[in-house]
Amino acid sequence: MSIGLLPDFPFDYQRWLTHPDGLGKIPDDVHGAEVAVIGAGISGVVAAYELARLGLRPIIYEAGRMGGRLRSERFGTANDVVAELGGMRFPESGRAFNHYVSLLGLETRPFPNPLTEAAGTTVVDLAGEPIFARTLDDLPPIFREVAGAWDTALEEGARLSEITAALEAGDTAAIKAIWNDLVEAWDDRTFYDFLATSESFSNLSFRHREIFGQVGFGTGGWDSDFPNTMLEILRVVMSGFEDNQNLIVGGSEQVVRQLWELPLSQAAHWPDGTSLSSLHAGAPRPGVAALDRYPDGERIVVTDRHGNAQSFEAVLNTTQSWLLTTNIEVDESLFSQRHWMALDRTRYMQSSKTFVMVDRPFWNDIDPATGFGVMGMTLTDRNTRGTYLFDNGPDKPAVMCLTYAWMGDAMKVLPKSADERARLALDTLEKIYPDLDIRSHVIGEPITVSWETDPNFLGAFKGALPGHYRYNRRMFSHFRQDDFDPQHRGIFLAGDDVSWTPGWADGAVSTALNAVWGITAHFGGSTHPENPGPGDQWDQLAPLQLPE
Ligand SMILES: Cc1cc2nc3c(=O)[nH]c(=O)nc-3n(C[C@H](O)[C@H](O)[C@H](O)COP(=O)(O)OP(=O)(O)OC[C@H]3O[C@@H](n4cnc5c(N)ncnc54)[C@H](O)[C@@H]3O)c2cc1C
Repeated sequence: MSIGLLPDFPFDYQRWLTHPDGLGKIPDDVHGAEVAVIGAGISGVVAAYELARLGLRPIIYEAGRMGGRLRSERFGTANDVVAELGGMRFPESGRAFNHYVSLLGLETRPFPNPLTEAAGTTVVDLAGEPIFARTLDDLPPIFREVAGAWDTALEEGARLSEITAALEAGDTAAIKAIWNDLVEAWDDRTFYDFLATSESFSNLSFRHREIFGQVGFGTGGWDSDFPNTMLEILRVVMSGFEDNQNLIVGGSEQVVRQLWELPLSQAAHWPDGTSLSSLHAGAPRPGVAALDRYPDGERIVVTDRHGNAQSFEAVLNTTQSWLLTTNIEVDESLFSQRHWMALDRTRYMQSSKTFVMVDRPFWNDIDPATGFGVMGMTLTDRNTRGTYLFDNGPDKPAVMCLTYAWMGDAMKVLPKSADERARLALDTLEKIYPDLDIRSHVIGEPITVSWETDPNFLGAFKGALPGHYRYNRRMFSHFRQDDFDPQHRGIFLAGDDVSWTPGWADGAVSTALNAVWGITAHFGGSTHPENPGPGDQWDQLAPLQLPE
């Protein structure tokens, strides 16, 4: 199992976080200095929590709801029954994110992914033929051929076993040697190109490739990612993000909300019992409308949506980067043109999910004719794409994610209301399960989301295209500002957009920790020599720099 290192920058965040010497120290005379943190998603709240432990005073601004893309919507008054509108499955190898889940003592359970024990029954419905299965072995041979071709393609085209072994051993020299070659080979090429030109898939039929796109292996269909750079897929596979995933009982939003309330442990400067909540009198400041350089050339002025302006020595932005040119009026001189280019080239994936609450997990009823559950976690080439079933115990209300779709499949329902989306999805499921009256189990109102229509997001998460490696590198490395022109210093970036593994909360947390290192350095602080941070190890671990 991966120890949670990422191939681009194999820094061990978990070790840094848990080391007894802590994340560093800032000079006593800057204790209590205010730092603006824009966004109360996981990256903003993690950064704020760690900055406060160092003795700084984070001031969080939030335009919408705390939690950001970890949004767990409750059905009516049923407290434990939630719809996970954003992040919902968290790999065990995402150790920076899991550090906070463990710190809060939140309960986790295996996520009901296709063909896992947690799912029980899985139904694969392609070309109008539903097949019931518990494991891959229950599916017809063509599915095993597809799985085998994928494994072979990864071995032959991406040296998977070698780099996985290096990641598990923490052998950074070996990781770099293999990964840097892959970056050069695959930055310009898509996921689809990787499949179509692999020997293992080109020896098989088009149907095999199609099945791979619609069923995938791990979490479900991958064809929505076919236009993305292959590097993004390789990172996910190599880091083990597709394996051993858990859900958070009661919803992932709790990670953000509870961290906000958690008393700071071993904090410099602040009295015992201080929390982010107590530092903010209970609520974050309103959304940010503008960012400007203060006339002294040093500080940065944050103006909120009510026109209140305050200047800060350091500001951390965690919003989606498109918002810096659309929703927030940002003084252009705060970033170099190279960085503006990277921020604006970010490309987002679209995503829609529609959920309903049901009276009980009826899908666990066994059909005596087949021995399988009457319904299962469903992967289909029809418009629902992925249907996930969440069980809260026998005879307790349960949740169906009727449809989780990406890109074109998500756009098809964009103008539709929650009711219309639910109706459409139930119509589709009726075709797959003609003898099952799913509708009779539905209670309450459906819940739906399309992240691209929310002005505080504009998209679900980054999905880098071929040729985007250099932009990713510029954004990820932005926390080290020593060689920046003074006019570009003091504003920091973190979050999903800045991460090498967009769409995974663990990547967002890693970038928050980078920003903590950068802000510590900005205030004249440093790490303990026994516990070097990401900026201290940059020279040994830095992501490959491709020629501009
Ligand atoms: C559909 C979907 C599925 C996902 N599935 C998974 C998964 O299964 N596993 C996983 O690990 N990850 C998953 N992710 C990714 C994960 O949710 C993100 O990586 C993570 O939540 C991002 O956190 P963040 O802090 O970077 O950004 P955000 O959560 O976006 O936080 C940024 C915050 O900034 C706020 N904001 C915007 N504008 C302003 C402004 N002007 N002023 C102040 N605040 C502002 C926003 O309201 C938001 O709260 C998924 C995401 C989506 C959308």
